[in-house]
Amino acid sequence: MEYMIGVDIGTTSTKSVLYDMKGKVIAHANSGYQLYQDVPDMAEEDPEDIFDAVIEVLGQIIRKGKVKKDELKGVSFSSAMHSLILMDQDDQPLTRAITWADNRAAKYSEELKANGIGAEIYAKTGTPIHPMAPLSKILWIKNEKPDLFKKTKKFIDLKTYVFFRLFGTYKMEYSIASATGIFNIFKLKWEPQALDLLGITTDQLPELVEPTDTITGIDSNYGKVLGITKDVPFVFGASDGVLSNLGVNAIDPGVVAVTIGTSGAVRVVVDKPVVDPNGRLFCYALTKDKWVVGGPVNNGGIVFRWVKDQLFAPEKITAEQMQVSTYDILTQIAEKIPAGSDGLLFHPYLGGERAPIWDAYARGSFFGLTRKHTRAHMVRAALEGIVYNLYIVMLTIEGVAGKPKSIQATGGFARSALWRQMLADIFEQDVTIPESFESSCLGAAVLGMYALGYIDDLSAVKDMVGVTDVHKPNEENFQVYRELLPIWIRLSRVLEPEYKSIAEFQKKHVK
Ligand code: ADP
Repeated sequence: MEYMIGVDIGTTSTKSVLYDMKGKVIAHANSGYQLYQDVPDMAEEDPEDIFDAVIEVLGQIIRKGKVKKDELKGVSFSSAMHSLILMDQDDQPLTRAITWADNRAAKYSEELKANGIGAEIYAKTGTPIHPMAPLSKILWIKNEKPDLFKKTKKFIDLKTYVFFRLFGTYKMEYSIASATGIFNIFKLKWEPQALDLLGITTDQLPELVEPTDTITGIDSNYGKVLGITKDVPFVFGASDGVLSNLGVNAIDPGVVAVTIGTSGAVRVVVDKPVVDPNGRLFCYALTKDKWVVGGPVNNGGIVFRWVKDQLFAPEKITAEQMQVSTYDILTQIAEKIPAGSDGLLFHPYLGGERAPIWDAYARGSFFGLTRKHTRAHMVRAALEGIVYNLYIVMLTIEGVAGKPKSIQATGGFARSALWRQMLADIFEQDVTIPESFESSCLGAAVLGMYALGYIDDLSAVKDMVGVTDVHKPNEENFQVYRELLPIWIRLSRVLEPEYKSIAEFQKKHVK
């Protein structure tokens, strides 16, 4: 037998899956860790915990799969984007890993937006100006923790840390680099304007490698722990978002990956890096010739959860007694309401918003309420509002990447047939739900197979991903949504200038 392993270093846990060369899952493992939130806006992880988790999940699946020494052909990595670890002169971490969810650099990303430097840097790096990006984080550390800043030998990310511990060199692949805000996606080099702004040199950053580059010679201690030899190649891999596109078979031109989990995203693969003139989209590398353009959305399924908890508490109790999902009951309630919720609109910005409006102050609203509207209308309007918002992201992507052809959709939302159909109707596209299990791990493994010559093309993934459901747009519903969408969009613009005033009121008065 021949096997390939995909590892995904995530924000709350690290996952690993052992595949055969046809992409069949042979064994899998998962190990969680703590997120540190000692002060407001902090979201950190201990790099040591992550490293231990990587070793743990690798060891588990090698044992579970009874993999013999010569059967493991490679290990390939996915990881969360935007993390930052400062390393000292002795190669010890000076900080924990500051994750994408950490918001303490907000003041610095706002400054970069206001003074126009952010737009200049975005146009070269493709990373939206946001506190999530290492660009903003390093600026924050430079200004507010100058002692740490001065002691830093290297600014790295979680995956670079794991590879450093295993192989003793600091290397970062283009995909993770393209999400730092410091990497020029057109020249494939660290961007001098960003380096100047931060006051750092390329020596303080990892050496750049391609996602398909490999390394051998694992530290003998870890080799022994894992039961693998020094010649097993480790593939640097890419970031979780772009590998998820690969893992759900959304890599052909025009095939759009839409995810609605707790948050959401819309992403499409193009063959050259592109940026949005208004800085609203990211462009991250999958390989040197495949780039993923898209937008991350805060308000996905978490909004449905809010509807469930805050508007349907009695149904929640009944559902628990009946041992069914409250979401399924809510879906049945929403189904009785016609498309368009009888003219009730909902802007889903309960948690501020990243794409498409990039406004941390944005707040949610129902609009168009009459005495005829019921809670059932509210739940349907909420589901529709989440999809309208994703559709606006799609329109922005269309501007730089062309018209979509079809949609591969994933995430917890896919458990609701009604919600899946809404996606087809509002986007007016065929929606396919791929059979996706740990899509970023599969993406990593497929990239690994490609890097090591086991497949000729990434499109081999087609035969590895099944399909669970397909939805075609319903013309009648589409017409209703087309009437409402312009109102929904105009309304966003009308509300926008007031978001900050209401958010400031809330900050001052709401405990
Ligand atoms: P995560 O993004 O954290 O990995 P999931 O992809 O499982 O999580 O998505 C969780 C979301 O999926 C929930 O917030 C909820 O909105 C939605 N969801 C979960 N179950 C259902 C269901 N039966 N029907 C519709 N939506 C659901």
